[in-house]
Amino acid sequence: MESMPKEFLPMAKELAKYSRLVWDMRFVEANGGNLSVKIAEDLIITTPTMMSKRELTLDDMVVCTLKGDIVFGSRSPSSELHSHLAIYNVNENAKAIVHSHPPYATSYAFADDMPIEWLAPESVFWIGEICVIPFLMPGSIELSNEIKRTCKEKYVLFLKNHGLITWGESLQNAMWRTEVMESYCKTAHLISTRGAKPAKLNSKQVNMLVKLKEDFHR
Ligand SMILES: [Zn+2]
Repeated sequence: MESMPKEFLPMAKELAKYSRLVWDMRFVEANGGNLSVKIAEDLIITTPTMMSKRELTLDDMVVCTLKGDIVFGSRSPSSELHSHLAIYNVNENAKAIVHSHPPYATSYAFADDMPIEWLAPESVFWIGEICVIPFLMPGSIELSNEIKRTCKEKYVLFLKNHGLITWGESLQNAMWRTEVMESYCKTAHLISTRGAKPAKLNSKQVNMLVKLKEDFHR
């Protein structure tokens, strides 16, 4: 197998590290999930298809252009490559993407009671407005077109009957959004199992948090 070119090694290492992390957190199973990160204006590096995120090596990774042409790699890229490309395409701030099936978030993706009202400061700060896309075949052109149509300037996408995609300025950023979303869904689930009513933040509190977020990014 051809070795990963030297200039791509640091990002390939990051990708292997976060792939292992999503597996360690049990946010993926079997060959599920996929991650990618931008390594140049027109290049990304992505996890391969049909492999566990538990033990990916640097040479398992695949380098592609933003059009989907393979530049390096002897494996096939993630089957969700076109969804990733659609997200990079419409979101300038997307530099890395994590797709996983975290159990609590995914349970909401499989149901009709999405917990998308603000409950926690972290959700306002990290999540913002959520995209929810009805079930479309994974990896299909219909799915990437729908992503392009609805996911501009957002950071979190629920794929109905499938799972979660998050993105951000870095793999750490994208991963934090996955963790925050999963934690939020776990909390929402625990509230609902007690039959309790969520104590929602009022609009003044939400606006203060949004301002805090804007000041932070200035
Ligand atoms: Zn998936």
